[in-house]
Amino acid sequence: MTFDLVIVGAGLVGSSLALALQGSGFSVALVEPRPPAPLPRDETWDVRVYAISPGSAAFLDAGGAWARLDRERLCPVTEMEVFGDGGRSRLHFSAYDAGIPELAFIVESRQLQAAIWEALETREDLDRFCPANCAELEFGRDAATLRLEDGRTLQAKLVVGADGADSWVRAQAEIAASPRPYGQMGVVANFSTSIPHGGVARQWFREDGVLALLPLPGDQVSMVWSAWNEKASELLALEPLALCAAIHEATGGAAGELNLLTPAAAFPLRLLRPKTCIGPRLALIGDAAHNVHPLAGQGVNLGFGDARELATVLRERGVQPDCGHRSLLRRYERSRREDVLAMQLTTDGLQKLFNNKDPVLRELRNWGLGLTDRLGPLKNFLTRTALG
Ligand SMILES: Cc1cc2nc3c(=O)[nH]c(=O)nc-3n(C[C@H](O)[C@H](O)[C@H](O)COP(=O)(O)OP(=O)(O)OC[C@H]3O[C@@H](n4cnc5c(N)ncnc54)[C@H](O)[C@@H]3O)c2cc1C
Repeated sequence: MTFDLVIVGAGLVGSSLALALQGSGFSVALVEPRPPAPLPRDETWDVRVYAISPGSAAFLDAGGAWARLDRERLCPVTEMEVFGDGGRSRLHFSAYDAGIPELAFIVESRQLQAAIWEALETREDLDRFCPANCAELEFGRDAATLRLEDGRTLQAKLVVGADGADSWVRAQAEIAASPRPYGQMGVVANFSTSIPHGGVARQWFREDGVLALLPLPGDQVSMVWSAWNEKASELLALEPLALCAAIHEATGGAAGELNLLTPAAAFPLRLLRPKTCIGPRLALIGDAAHNVHPLAGQGVNLGFGDARELATVLRERGVQPDCGHRSLLRRYERSRREDVLAMQLTTDGLQKLFNNKDPVLRELRNWGLGLTDRLGPLKNFLTRTALG
């Protein structure tokens, strides 16, 4: 079977690329070992939620996925408050001040995945191989060859690795990645609250990690606490009432009384900076190409940015008939370098800055937070960057 592109991994980012290539004239294969679980019919909330930037929402809308989301299950963020660990410093962002309707949307992972897959069903130039496991991948001069465990063989001008942080494709291409664990876990859980959130996302930089409460529809919030491994294990071991009390205390009661809706889960956090995101007949996108700390809630947004750029480069390839040609891949790499590096440096720098016990540094970072709040142009720049 011969295709222009084979996308390996149909998570949010890989499947969004398939969507963005709709109508491009390319024949595309999408390979995924695990089909998404059907959406539950009850009123439970996915413990995995994302802050999706307006830029990413527009990208998904262009592919026909955003409109398929159930509006009752997504929550616009109209304000954001960031608190330092000095007790006084605060950084405040507001959609109203920025002249836009919202800063981000909080969306459940499974709802987003289902919406993208549903939109893909209308694509005629897409072959889905799911469930299917990859067995071997060879990069030749004129094409790459992917063999599946069931014996089928797919040939393509370009293979796109969208298979997540532990990318098998990246390993086959022998691209070194050397992940650096943060020694932290992202502990996530959902709560109902006695104080309405009013569309405000709140984040606390604390000595024991970064804690965020993201607004969900109704009087509900989703927590992401990027905590040191030991603290994370403690949180995971707490009974529901004790966990609610711990969050209530850590957030100074900002959300009022809490009631646990979805049991806590945890994800290991690490920085991953592969040497390159391209190779002969290969492009990496999403977590396969970079992993960032979730404190800025930008990981999947960066991945959507990769998918958008790669699709644009391929669509605008001009007279170049070969979609895996080195010149196009170089163009893709160049177009992403700055954004990815800036996000990695920002999130990594903030993580280091706030996880330092030096009293001088503590004073300085909290002063910096307050200063940023007062500096209009810097604040506007940060807002624009986060909007995608
Ligand atoms: C605690 C936490 C909170 C976060 N919050 C946010 C947030 O608010 N906003 C945000 O933007 N980002 C957030 N992120 C980051 C976000 O989760 C990731 O950036 C995003 O899920 C990456 O998507 P992906 O499609 O690249 O990879 P994945 O979601 O890992 O998908 C990879 C896909 O590839 C498939 N696959 C794996 N191996 C193979 C193989 N060998 N062959 C074929 N297919 C394969 C998998 O089954 C999967 O479907 C958060 C991360 C954490 C840990």
